[in-house]
Amino acid sequence: MSNSPYSWLSHSLETIHRANWYRSVQPLEGLPGPIARLKDQEVLNFASNNYLGLAGDRRLIQAATAALEQYGTGSTGSRLTSGHRGLHQQLEASIARLKQTEDALVFSSGYLANLGAIAALAGPRDLILCDEYNHSSLKNGAILSKATVLTYSHGNVEALTEKLKEYRQTYRRSLIISDSVFSMDGDLAPLPQLLDIAQTYDSMLLIDEAHATGVFGSSGAGLVEHFQLDKPELIQVGTLSKAIGSLGGYVAGRSVAIDYLRNRAPSWIYTTGLSPADTAAAQTAIEMIQTEPQHREQLWHNIRYFQDLLARHCPHLTPIALESPIICLPLENPQHALDLSEYLKTQGIFVPAIRPPTVPTSRIRISLMATHQPEHLEALIEGMIKCG
Ligand SMILES: *Cc1c(COP(=O)(O)O)cnc(C)c1O
Repeated sequence: MSNSPYSWLSHSLETIHRANWYRSVQPLEGLPGPIARLKDQEVLNFASNNYLGLAGDRRLIQAATAALEQYGTGSTGSRLTSGHRGLHQQLEASIARLKQTEDALVFSSGYLANLGAIAALAGPRDLILCDEYNHSSLKNGAILSKATVLTYSHGNVEALTEKLKEYRQTYRRSLIISDSVFSMDGDLAPLPQLLDIAQTYDSMLLIDEAHATGVFGSSGAGLVEHFQLDKPELIQVGTLSKAIGSLGGYVAGRSVAIDYLRNRAPSWIYTTGLSPADTAAAQTAIEMIQTEPQHREQLWHNIRYFQDLLARHCPHLTPIALESPIICLPLENPQHALDLSEYLKTQGIFVPAIRPPTVPTSRIRISLMATHQPEHLEALIEGMIKCG
């Protein structure tokens, strides 16, 4: 018998260790970019969501510094009390312009945007349909809403349709939720079909553009723009912390939806407004995304070059998908994924191993950036060849 109500913690950690699921943090030094310092070693960084390289850009740093000087470090309260600044309003107008929506609402993170939006849009009498590979924030938003949650197999529009056919009429309202670019696989959601299905079954649709904003679409608005979907009712969520290079999240859509969220989204109402520095950096990044397509073009150039190298030098490796800057190579088990990641680290290359329970099967996950040079991509291929 244990004598402490906390003794289960160390037992649980032992189980996590035995399964090779244990994780810990490692500090990176210096400005974000293709080369990072990891402890005493310089490494090529293929682990970052900084797709356009903006997180270390001088103009974002200057904008954040100016906002710090003018407004201080914290926004000091909820947006509904003392925490609302003109900067927030400007940023929301910029996001709405980028997304071509009537309005937008900035949250303190993408995770909080999903929690708040989903919990506000659905309740105990409603139905939520959730792709099995959706991001944790979507899944937990669904739980928080207390709606009935049905999970459909990944990207499977037939399975989704079947569930709606069988259960839709039993519930008051329905909400379909999906990543647009799936974060741990790098593949794309079938957005046009999801919109059709939502329409047919009188369902709302919420799309998380976290990995697509700044990356897809002719103006960088995301996968909705890429597919040229003109659907004003669609609810789009995203983050300011990936291609946009700052911190925070947003929901964009019809004014009526945004206005409702301002009144009902708990993770917006009861949390402190985004800091002035983060807000100003995001504002500058969105302007750059709209006026400087070269960052996005360079990223896609790198994606195509890497695809080429992979096909030429590692034809036996089949990535889970080759549709986005996220390229995952499946491995048999967690140990293999860890071994490859560790080996690459000895070669000065940082590529994380992604294991259960984050994903159902182990893999290494390569994230490409606009600021990677051709020789960086070549070095990664060389490292993988050497490892066999
Ligand atoms: C990263 C991510 C989030 C969370 O965004 P943060 O701003 O980092 O909290 C939400 N959804 C998806 C799909 C993501 O990949």
